[in-house]
Amino acid sequence: MNNKQINLLIEFILLFNLFHYLNQTGERPFICHYENCNKGFITKSNLKAHMCKHTGIKPFICNFENCKKTYTRKCRFKIHLRMHVYRYNEYYIII
Ligand SMILES: [Zn+2]
Ligand SMILES: [Zn+2]
Repeated sequence: MNNKQINLLIEFILLFNLFHYLNQTGERPFICHYENCNKGFITKSNLKAHMCKHTGIKPFICNFENCKKTYTRKCRFKIHLRMHVYRYNEYYIII
């Protein structure tokens, strides 16, 4: 992956996040039934990510360079992974 491709990927992620933000005013068919939470979500995966807050489970673990950072949300984890990709590329550019 070259720098141009990485930039395109980041653009895409940002656009995707904006799309989610714009959708926040819309309907939220997925409701959290945990105790008296009753929070609504647009997608099932959003609800799943939210449930992690209640259960404390973080399903996304970064194994890159033994980093071991954990994330409840896939989008956050992806953004974190970009950081490794940048560092990794820099390393090879220096060599
Ligand atoms: Zn909840
Ligand atoms: Zn990491």
